[in-house]
Amino acid sequence: MAEEGTKKVKKEKIPRQPMPEQAPEVRAKNFDEVPFGLSRKAAIKEAERCLQCKKPSCVAGCPVEVDIPGFIKLLKEGEFAKSIRKVWERNALPAVCGRVCPQEIQCEEVCIVAKKGVPVAIGNLERFVADHERMHGKGELPPKAEPTGKKIAVVGSGPSGLTVAGDLILKGHDVTIFEAFHSPGGVLVYGIPEFRLPKDIVSHEVNFLERQGVKVECNAVVGRIISLNELFEEGYDAIYLGVGAGLPRFLNIPGENFIGIFSANEYLTRSNLMKAYLFPEYDTPIIKGKNVITLGAGNVAMDSARTALRLGAEKSRIVYRRSRKEVPARTAEVHHAEEEGVEFFFLTSPTKFIGNEKGRVIGMEGLKMELGEPDESGRRRPLPIKGSEFELECDLVIIAVGAGANPLLTKSTEGLDLNKWGYIITEEETGKTSKKGVWAGGDIVTGSATVILAMGAGRIAANSIHSYLTWGW
Ligand code: FAD
Ligand code: SF4
Repeated sequence: MAEEGTKKVKKEKIPRQPMPEQAPEVRAKNFDEVPFGLSRKAAIKEAERCLQCKKPSCVAGCPVEVDIPGFIKLLKEGEFAKSIRKVWERNALPAVCGRVCPQEIQCEEVCIVAKKGVPVAIGNLERFVADHERMHGKGELPPKAEPTGKKIAVVGSGPSGLTVAGDLILKGHDVTIFEAFHSPGGVLVYGIPEFRLPKDIVSHEVNFLERQGVKVECNAVVGRIISLNELFEEGYDAIYLGVGAGLPRFLNIPGENFIGIFSANEYLTRSNLMKAYLFPEYDTPIIKGKNVITLGAGNVAMDSARTALRLGAEKSRIVYRRSRKEVPARTAEVHHAEEEGVEFFFLTSPTKFIGNEKGRVIGMEGLKMELGEPDESGRRRPLPIKGSEFELECDLVIIAVGAGANPLLTKSTEGLDLNKWGYIITEEETGKTSKKGVWAGGDIVTGSATVILAMGAGRIAANSIHSYLTWGW
């Protein structure tokens, strides 16, 4: 008993192992990944901080319930291959989640160590074992069930579609992913920039699925080149819709059509997927603003403002109508953006854009705000302060105020019930839609959310599709 107590004290004395990363002034000028990853020694030391709780609150805080103490224990023992297998039991994309999950409001927020200090760096450890496996593992494929002869079409190759494909291929089904873009990965490739999530990690994951037998058809816009009914006629037994919520929202204020005003979606797609940042190797056109304003304060806004810096901006500013407390982006992203020199204008809202005689944006007018009573989202409503008008100069504006459901597929499909915002209505416990043989999950059901929630929805649907194909329910 006394020994247990001593061990506990020692563990609590180990400080959280810092994540080594590029210096802000260096990384703000390149697209290389910001954190380098923990060394083997630091990862083992960090793993020693875990108390191996009997009732681990971290697991309850994880949307897909990874056995966190289980994988951390194996990591601590140096059993990296076993450790990653433990994570894979619940999470097919740990190298991605270790990098982009908002751990500070999930597993790490409720880690028992956080009660008296700084939580165990669960995300950094997950990233460590995933990276170790990718770089040093034998690349063994998981065991697969006998072929069932059933065919499944997965529409969309974001995290939810990849999860469904990965789960169903192991159950012996024949799986084809249809992706509208020329490259699979969804937001992981077209939205989240290289400096946060290197694209070779996403292609490694997709390649792993392909090695298991998943077929990927790119440049395939379902709803335009082929309908869901035609997919059934071609012999597919079930269809999963993981088409995301990629339709950009705008502000609908005067001047929004001036040249030099982009949706974040278009700006990031040009930079990431179309590789505009690799000019002249890729000649994708993009405006390299010197004086950039990004509107919004979610992850998408942070990614845009930080991309603008790397593309040569002298000033990159975030304008947000609420206060710092309401910023929805991950804490780490805000911290990194500030370190790199992104300026924040809180409680500030645009009212109009100003253009020159050539129709190019040269400025933005706005108002200062104060916070009133909470609105339907539970956050305090920003209210304009009279007489607080101001003007900011700019030559590029990026609008990152949210995204909605893309209607292309959903509106052209008969029998698919949608809610008033155009998102697909599904049964929560199964992911079944109102159309027989069709499941859906991820952002197209919930609206813009997170990678791990999209993956969780994919897993629920995969289990339900498997029951339907095996037992007819
Ligand atoms: P998506 O990832 O959007 O994938 C949908 C795919 O379907 C796309 O590839 C699309 O091309 C394809 N598609 C659409 N229509 C069709 C069609 N008709 N036919 C064929 N294919 C089609 N979440 C986090 O957890 N952490 C973060 O740090 C984070 N940062 C983000 C940064 C940005 C810039 C963005 C945009 C989002 C971020 N998110 C983050 C949110 C997260 O990426 C999404 O919640 C998640 O990717 C949703 O997954 P999904 O599979 O539902 O859809
Ligand atoms: Fe370890 Fe924290 Fe989870 Fe406890 S709550 S098992 S200390 S990671």
